[in-house]
Amino acid sequence: MPRTDRKLTRRRSQPGGVHWLSTSDVVLDHADVIVIGGGATGIGLLWDLTLRGLDVILLEQGSLASGTSGAFHGLLHSGARYAGSDPATAAECLAENRILRKVAREFVGNTGGIFARLEEDDPAWERRWRQGCRSAGLRPERVALDDLRASEPALSPGLVAAYRVPDATIDGFGLLWSLVWSATDSGARVYFGARVTGFLTDEAGVRGVRVMGVGAVRRPPSDDAGEDPRVRVAPAGPVEPGEIVAPVVVNATGPWAGDVAALAGPRAQAAVPVERDKGVMIVFNSRLVSTVVNRLRPPGDGDILVPHGPVTILGTSSAKVEGPERPAPTPAEVKRILTEGRALVPGLDSVPPLRAYAGVRPLLRPGGRGFMLIDHGQSGGPGGLVTIAGGKFTTFRAMAEVAGDLVVRLMGKKVSSRTAEVGIPRLGRNLSSRLQLLACECELVSLSGLLGLLDEGLHLADLRRLTRLGMGGCQGVFCAQRLAGAMWQTGWPGSRRRPHPDEAAIAREAEGFRTARLSGIKPVEWGTQARLAAVAEALDRLTLGNDNRLTLGEGDHP
Ligand SMILES: Cc1cc2nc3c(=O)[nH]c(=O)nc-3n(C[C@H](O)[C@H](O)[C@H](O)COP(=O)(O)OP(=O)(O)OC[C@H]3O[C@@H](n4cnc5c(N)ncnc54)[C@H](O)[C@@H]3O)c2cc1C
Repeated sequence: MPRTDRKLTRRRSQPGGVHWLSTSDVVLDHADVIVIGGGATGIGLLWDLTLRGLDVILLEQGSLASGTSGAFHGLLHSGARYAGSDPATAAECLAENRILRKVAREFVGNTGGIFARLEEDDPAWERRWRQGCRSAGLRPERVALDDLRASEPALSPGLVAAYRVPDATIDGFGLLWSLVWSATDSGARVYFGARVTGFLTDEAGVRGVRVMGVGAVRRPPSDDAGEDPRVRVAPAGPVEPGEIVAPVVVNATGPWAGDVAALAGPRAQAAVPVERDKGVMIVFNSRLVSTVVNRLRPPGDGDILVPHGPVTILGTSSAKVEGPERPAPTPAEVKRILTEGRALVPGLDSVPPLRAYAGVRPLLRPGGRGFMLIDHGQSGGPGGLVTIAGGKFTTFRAMAEVAGDLVVRLMGKKVSSRTAEVGIPRLGRNLSSRLQLLACECELVSLSGLLGLLDEGLHLADLRRLTRLGMGGCQGVFCAQRLAGAMWQTGWPGSRRRPHPDEAAIAREAEGFRTARLSGIKPVEWGTQARLAAVAEALDRLTLGNDNRLTLGEGDHP
């Protein structure tokens, strides 16, 4: 029976936009659909449903891609990675790879991919892999080893077989920001720093959510629109949660999916078989390879190299973890990945590792790499609640499409998904390409572009994800002070048109930015990175009066 909520009236005239909630903000809003989770899955669904003409609100406790989608490998899978173990997932990846190359071509790095076998790797796996490729619809093309050595000189001379596959890289942050801005330009509302703490229910099931502001510094009233009527400041004292009403709520919270479902009761939680799997990656300060290179053996640790801009990311690993929060890489994990990486690239140690980081995969029990759509009303839980979980970044569009189909069905509507046809323009807001003063020399980010983004209220972590600021060779050591200056210049958290500088908030932002960068340096802090960390310490002491290094710095040279 389709659910409709007659108490709701649509107010499509309400402007869309991105809002960062502080702890004193209370949101009162309503929409056709609420999506919980601002990773690839949730933002993909926001895009899908907005294109179908629905009024959508997305709630994210952190900011854009602050969960797993901000800590992945950046690989647009061709499916070949799974061909030997899970041909169905391989076929799914291949189909999405083809679609995203078409609709998201601005964000896809057409590097191609290589699967290469070393002498010590089992030749029987190569046969099984080729068979799996065929059943998934992949046609790996054998590469002459001499040609490969000429095009990828860093690879081991011990390679005995290699194949070309349509792997690619994907600019996840740029893509997701562009989807958010496309959707909000069409009226959607995105609340960051907005944690869902419970569901609103009636006899028919879920009819909305309770939401707490947990994050951002409160912005002064905006220049032209005045106070947003949907967000009000709570009086002093304990803050009551805001309430957002919608006939359908989608839980797209990746590794948190079980926890969020649990807010709707034990039956809803039991229907979500997501387990958490940690993976570690190491970023090297050079483009070691020009194609994505995978080792041709059963998927294991440290066997994929992905080139991104001026760096290469080596990963990954796999270990079950309890919590969904991002854990730190351990020295043992870093050591194992380096050891495996050296087998593929013997000269690995001549290139300084910049940092190491970890993400948590939302895997389906038992051990699947596919995804799952749950209509809780059909699985013993409350009606009006849907969970979409598992999958890959590569399959986020397909996940959004099937979840979108269920949402419109629950609403008694018939509107098809358009995400396989509609191209995604790269939206950069005020990111001027004119080369002016640089805020970040490593990644060539212009100061004027940053000022525009700060005017919109973005935080430093968001600027980094959007522009790669601080992700290059200096890892933010030289740009953190400059960023604090730029924030002061824009009157942050106000804007240049309406300055409202908050010195303490700016200092906290700069320090948070630096501490986050330094925590990634810690696991690889030897050689060049140990020297960089020492420079960071000296600069911090001189300028910000801080000593981040007191809590950092036991890098264990593997
Ligand atoms: C190490 C590693 C490498 C990977 N590499 C690749 C790769 O190269 N290619 C590929 O295709 N895939 C890759 N993946 C898989 C891919 O990253 C994930 O499948 C995908 O990013 C999951 O996205 P998601 O939106 O489902 O989850 P997330 O990105 O984690 O988003 C869920 C969001 O929900 C929010 N949330 C949780 N609880 C609440 C709440 N109560 N209220 C509000 N918000 C909440 C969280 O803050 C989070 O931002 C990799 C994964 C890992 C771990």
